[in-house]
Amino acid sequence: MASKMKFVRFLTKTAALANVPKHIEHFSKFSPSPLSMKQFLDFGSTNACERTSFSFLRQELPVRLSNIMKEINLLPDGLLATPSVQLVQSWYIQSLMEILEFLDKNPDDQRVLETFVEVLEGIRNRHNDVVPTMAQGVIEFKDAFRRPDDAATDHNIQYFLDRFYTSRISIRMLINQHTLIFDGNTNPAHPNTIGCIDPVCDVTEVVRDAYESAKLLCEQYYLGAPELELRQMNANIIREPIQISYIPSHLYHMLFELFKNAMRATIENHEASRTLPPIRVMVALGGEDLSIKMSDCGGGVPFRKTERLFSYMYSTAPRPSIGDTQRAPLAGFGYGLPISRLYARYFQGDLQLYSMEGHGTDAVIHMKALSTDSVERLPVFNQTALRHYKLSLEADDWCVPSKEPLDLAIYRAAK
Ligand code: ATP
Ligand code: MG
Repeated sequence: MASKMKFVRFLTKTAALANVPKHIEHFSKFSPSPLSMKQFLDFGSTNACERTSFSFLRQELPVRLSNIMKEINLLPDGLLATPSVQLVQSWYIQSLMEILEFLDKNPDDQRVLETFVEVLEGIRNRHNDVVPTMAQGVIEFKDAFRRPDDAATDHNIQYFLDRFYTSRISIRMLINQHTLIFDGNTNPAHPNTIGCIDPVCDVTEVVRDAYESAKLLCEQYYLGAPELELRQMNANIIREPIQISYIPSHLYHMLFELFKNAMRATIENHEASRTLPPIRVMVALGGEDLSIKMSDCGGGVPFRKTERLFSYMYSTAPRPSIGDTQRAPLAGFGYGLPISRLYARYFQGDLQLYSMEGHGTDAVIHMKALSTDSVERLPVFNQTALRHYKLSLEADDWCVPSKEPLDLAIYRAAK
């Protein structure tokens, strides 16, 4: 009897799996619906209704998952076939199937709502290691297949991973909001937060937190760390603390990554000297933007290499592997900058690096000051996206200088 039940379950699962491509095709035809910070806040504070959130998510999550799953299939064959990417793809399929189970469920049934929260928590855990697993896949692919100077493949992978990780950030945001708001508990440490959003996020406090954590790591590894000099300018209400509606964990992530980089550069650039120059941070709030500039005297990077620092295919640090506990704590996969830039861009901001080789680097995070301007920036799978993957980079339309010195004597003789 038990084995018969097992067999029936196996058949049901196999049938469900066979239908997955059909579902992906269907849901990827819808565009994701970007939410503004204000919508997230309004929804979580005034009229938090679990039923409405459930009905929105059981449609929106399959749409976001399916849009990005269409793009996974367009990756270069060699990358798609790596065990790591196959594993990530299986997680996406499994999670999509689990959410689709709720399409015909009754939103008025309390048990359905409770199971939905549990399923979402399970999905969030399943996808915890997506970034290092995907990074591992890129390394496997790079070692096995990629020809040096294959600019078209690099462009495709960069384009895909930026969109894939943005999609992941957005899916986690939706899941976190629903599970945090409707699990019935308030966060005792931060009673004002709505899900993971702090409507009065104290920016300099997050700067200090991120500095302290990076300092701790830095001291463990290098036995010292640069000091922090923090200034702020609130152009709206002078001398008031700078507060905006934001997700403290996203801001912390970006700042922590920037501090680790600034500390590593400062220390490695001052190995011979007895004092370390401080890291200077300026926080400025205007009418439209909130900007944070972090300046270090870490010797900078050549201008030519700046864009490369945001590439997933490049890192100057030794390669870590998943579960590697011996790795250098201040440098990992080389994903610190690219992922931080995605967090900044996710709510219409940006992260830029201005380096002066020989001196140091300024890293600037721009964020929207108003919660109505902070709207999710989401990838959508359409013809334009498809064209990006089909793009083969043609010959450059600017002259390439010859490596040989030009012999002008030939021209003089010809005259
Ligand atoms: P990870 O951040 O994933 O642990 P990583 O630090 O190598 O590894 P990124 O933070 O993306 O990766 O930085 C990429 C590279 O950019 C660094 O390895 C470093 O060479 C260079 N870099 C970044 N910030 C600075 C800086 N402030 N000064 C000098 N070089 C920098
Ligand atoms: Mg880093």
